[in-house]
Amino acid sequence: MDINGLTVSTWLADLGVWPLVIVLVPNLLFRKYGQAAGTKRMSSLFQAIAVFVITTVAAFMVEKQLSDKYLFLAVIVVAAVMYLFRSRVFPYRLKCAGCDAKLDFKTIYFMDDNLCPECHSRKVAAEEAAASADSIAGEITGDAPETASAENSPEKETPESENDEKETIQ
Ligand SMILES: [Zn+2]
Repeated sequence: MDINGLTVSTWLADLGVWPLVIVLVPNLLFRKYGQAAGTKRMSSLFQAIAVFVITTVAAFMVEKQLSDKYLFLAVIVVAAVMYLFRSRVFPYRLKCAGCDAKLDFKTIYFMDDNLCPECHSRKVAAEEAAASADSIAGEITGDAPETASAENSPEKETPESENDEKETIQ
């Protein structure tokens, strides 16, 4: 392969916007997973940016009749940047973070928690338990002044009941 030629750049430039479209389509699918897929949605965006940079450089090489070596240089730079930020660009795990079970494609590609269905439902149940424990704690502290006022109210009533007794005596 002649790195001073334009074979690779021409091939990439001829693909036009298709590489970018192909990497951006999955990004739209992230919508339905919302917050649970926020990190990986950003990752798919970073990957799309990398594809955009490389295809743009390829188109520029063809337009200016330069050579593939600058394209390869751009690929090396993009790869180095992606490697530096690999935890952001590729946060994927093939196995469950909780129990090492194999993950399905949906979890690997979309879900941020990298948990298998069992570990995920366990985590959701634990979170719900923690949330209800918090609300119970809130109810207890919220009730405390009410019980105190309930204790005070009989004391307020006692003079009235004494008066009632006096009235009945009279
Ligand atoms: Zn698991």
